[in-house]
Amino acid sequence: MTNQPGIVITGASGRMGQMLIRTVAESDAARLVGVVERSGHDWIGRDVGECMGGAALGVSVTDDALEAFSNAQAVIDFTAPAATVEFAALAAQARATHVIGTTGLSDDDLEKIAAAARHATIVRAGNMSLGVNLLVQLTKQVAAALDEDFDIEVIEYHHNRKVDAPSGTALMLGEAAAEGRGVDLKEVTDSGRDGITGARKRGDIGFSAIRAGAIVGEHDVMFASQSERIVLRHVAEDRSVFARGALKAALWGQDKGPGEYDMLDVLGLKG
Ligand code: NAP
Repeated sequence: MTNQPGIVITGASGRMGQMLIRTVAESDAARLVGVVERSGHDWIGRDVGECMGGAALGVSVTDDALEAFSNAQAVIDFTAPAATVEFAALAAQARATHVIGTTGLSDDDLEKIAAAARHATIVRAGNMSLGVNLLVQLTKQVAAALDEDFDIEVIEYHHNRKVDAPSGTALMLGEAAAEGRGVDLKEVTDSGRDGITGARKRGDIGFSAIRAGAIVGEHDVMFASQSERIVLRHVAEDRSVFARGALKAALWGQDKGPGEYDMLDVLGLKG
């Protein structure tokens, strides 16, 4: 029992935070040893199970991230870029595996995370589900097989509270398409179309974002020529798919050395 890795969840009150707390609390493979929220949040000092409207879980919400991380083997973090960069340094200091699901990270944030990964095991992915990671590999293969007669468009659908676009998953799929085609995504990205944009440029990889209602997350990768169209599609029915993937990553990271890994490493899909 005691050798189950102890896990801390950050952003306890968030949509993913609450799903992660339930997933870890119900798991036989790990123990929930801490939950972190920002200073001043009204959950601080209270039992997190009761805060979520259920039975007590015996874990109080804290705003002292370093102390919580120091008592854990892994931190699962689906919050916001500023918080994640701070947590990466603290998790490295505490020698805890850091699983990062946060999206919308800037190049500067990614550099800071890479610096933390020199001393710590970090698993970071814009999408932690098995299905999307398979879709990444399929996208790379299809893009490699087709030439620029096929326009590539990544279309993503999310709930109306999402703050960043394109989604982290859409960017993973765009990167996979660019890699398959042997181009640099930064040079061929076409996103945020509005007004008289002119015709689509041959070879561009386009992004379209829908924000509506309660959609958990859907992604299409479309390859369209003048005479045919292929659409690869993934639908997340429920947030638990990301939470289960994140827990799997936290357990996988326990015997890995310092470095930055992704879900393709965790799922053995690299190559
Ligand atoms: P959410 O409901 O808004 O939750 C975010 C949580 O992070 C909130 O509890 C928020 O607290 C906390 N937080 C934000 N800034 C913080 C800070 N500076 N210090 C401490 N806590 C802070 O969002 P969500 O839907 O759960 O999504 C969270 C992130 O995960 C997003 O980046 C989303 O795109 C990503 N995501 C990734 C995957 C994946 O598989 N990789 C799947 C789903 C979502 P306050 O409410 O107090 O601000």
